[in-house]
Amino acid sequence: MTVLVVNSGSSSIKFQLVEPEDGTAGATGLVEQIGETEGRVVLDLPGDESEKRLEIPDHAKGLQIAFDMLADAGVDLHDSVTAVGHRVVHGGEVFYRPTVVDDAVLKQIDELSSLAPLHNPPNVLGIEVARRQLPDVPHVAVFDTAFFHGLPAAASTYAIDRDTARQYGIRRYGFHGTSHEYVSQQVEKFLGREGLDQIVLHLGNGASASAIRAGEPIDTSMGLTPLEGLVMGTRSGDIDPGIVMHLRRSADMDVDAIDELLNRRSGLKGMSGINDFRALQQRIDGGDGDAALAYDVYIHRLRKYIGAYMVDLGHLDVIAFTAGVGENASQVRADALANLQGFGIEIDPERNAQRGKVARVISTDGSAVTVLVVPTNEELAIARATDALVSSR
Ligand code: AMP
Repeated sequence: MTVLVVNSGSSSIKFQLVEPEDGTAGATGLVEQIGETEGRVVLDLPGDESEKRLEIPDHAKGLQIAFDMLADAGVDLHDSVTAVGHRVVHGGEVFYRPTVVDDAVLKQIDELSSLAPLHNPPNVLGIEVARRQLPDVPHVAVFDTAFFHGLPAAASTYAIDRDTARQYGIRRYGFHGTSHEYVSQQVEKFLGREGLDQIVLHLGNGASASAIRAGEPIDTSMGLTPLEGLVMGTRSGDIDPGIVMHLRRSADMDVDAIDELLNRRSGLKGMSGINDFRALQQRIDGGDGDAALAYDVYIHRLRKYIGAYMVDLGHLDVIAFTAGVGENASQVRADALANLQGFGIEIDPERNAQRGKVARVISTDGSAVTVLVVPTNEELAIARATDALVSSR
């Protein structure tokens, strides 16, 4: 069984060939700058990396080029792939488990685009293109929202007029669910314990936190859309919704302009001009005040959520850091949990400074709460979910 995992964005397609049983990745690829004058296709095979730069007018052509490059490298997807797993961002109220894609399902995913206008349309496009390329194998949609479908009502409900909320599907859905579920399961496997109370911090370009009690999420920081919650690379996270009205009335910005501001020109980038964390840290080291403030706002928000989720859970066994920043930026981990010894949380500076690509403990032996770094692997989680569904049919 080899699963092709496809993650299709607005101008890019990431894909990976995964053996769900042992978790090995056979080939990894990226098609990017689709629609621009020069696009790029990168293919990473064990021991062999290739790259092409050429015009890629649309997603269909991009995937076709990638498949051709794979064939040239001796990998015939038509022979090897037994199923395709697609990352789909928004499942709304409709989809809360992996689902085999047929025309009706694809139409429903498309209809959910009003809830996720930046994400679901490219997901739909990726599925259409991949289904045309590989029509004889099952395609499975795995939803970012699914893990949080059963959030307690008190955590998923916005305090707004209930009729309006119902009519427009306004509730907190949560995102990065595949990662939060995978990482929380890896934590239990790694520690050899079950039923743990955990806070999982997925800190990448997008960032979210979740509170998980014995495998079930009881709260998460993203809401109706992936805009709520933590400070992110380019997204604001929590703001007073009054800002939207103020900009509408005083700056004469229309909805699309405000959407663009909050999703693409806010967060670390909005405050400092930079959304890449490594570059941000270099700027701070160079004495850039805006970069330092952006970092402080980021850490302040993160600590607020950690505190909230400790109280939400009432008891805490584990804090797990994951994704690009969480796995690599030791300073962020140290600052997020500084001076919390009184709450039973103590990081060991030496353990925290060590780098690695595997799960590891970074708290002291005496820390009541175990703090871990756990690499996420959404592709493997999608491949396993796809495999499990297809095998059960
Ligand atoms: P992701 O969305 O999970 O791919 O994470 C992307 C973010 O991780 C970017 O802001 C990167 O700058 C950040 N990142 C990746 N590697 C490092 C590193 N070694 N130190 C600090 N940040 C990193």
